[in-house]
Amino acid sequence: MLLGPAEIRALAADLDVRPTKTLGQNFLHDQNTIRRIVRTADLEPGERVLEIGPGLGSLTLGLLEAGHPVTAIEIDPVLAASLPRTVAARLPGADLEIVTDDAMRVSDVPGDPTALVANLPYNVAVPVVLHLLETLPGLRTGLVMVQAEVADRLAAPPGSRTYGVPSAKAAWYASATRAGAIPRTVFWPMPNVDSGLVRLVRRDPPATTATREQVFAVVDAAFAQRRKTLRAALAGWAGSPVAAEDALRAAGIDPSARGETLAIEQFARIAEQK
Ligand code: SAM
Repeated sequence: MLLGPAEIRALAADLDVRPTKTLGQNFLHDQNTIRRIVRTADLEPGERVLEIGPGLGSLTLGLLEAGHPVTAIEIDPVLAASLPRTVAARLPGADLEIVTDDAMRVSDVPGDPTALVANLPYNVAVPVVLHLLETLPGLRTGLVMVQAEVADRLAAPPGSRTYGVPSAKAAWYASATRAGAIPRTVFWPMPNVDSGLVRLVRRDPPATTATREQVFAVVDAAFAQRRKTLRAALAGWAGSPVAAEDALRAAGIDPSARGETLAIEQFARIAEQK
């Protein structure tokens, strides 16, 4: 019932689809990987899933087969139009809603899905995840497949080498943990990087009087010049190095520390000082 290498090639040939790098089109053709993703997503029975970029339908069929209604957002109109036919031929009567749109622009989606499960287009994975967590508060969990390096960044704790803007911003909305590695061989066409799974579990944002935008502005400034101390990196944001030092001290943070050591709660405390 799921798509294997022969079905993926046949579908792509039928539709005259030539996968593009710009849209991150690498399609899953390994049924074990598809079932593993669905299992790892740890969904409630019958829970409606939001899938971004269903492509030829590999993961969509895996989710539907496991009894989950799916709301799918696909930017490529040819792929979006062919998905109902693919699903009807293999799983007649399955509950699938398709929206042809850019996942970075959607503001509400049909069916109120509560879990995000997606093999994300590589080049926009982080902005897509942040946008969806921001605009769809009903999403309670997520399991996303992204480039291995991006998986490391999303899940990195403060103080680690890969901790940066994606880690700090994702932490505003959710806890993020690595949930396994995926080799490049399970895709057609084969990308030149490996992938990783990241599990997201929504949590309350830090308690703060600052807005999310204000906190994210501090995060962006702190990491814009990664090797600088916070006193120097936040000088532009605060108006001067002295003002930055005052704000940092008022927030209880050593002005000679670097952004990569701060948790999102500490960025929020700095933002409150302006
Ligand atoms: N889910 C399929 C699979 O696992 O085989 C395809 C995954 S492929 C890595 C990424 C998919 O996202 C492609 O189908 C691509 O057309 C779609 N896509 C790319 N950018 C998008 C965007 N901004 N919004 C929605 N879909 C997008």
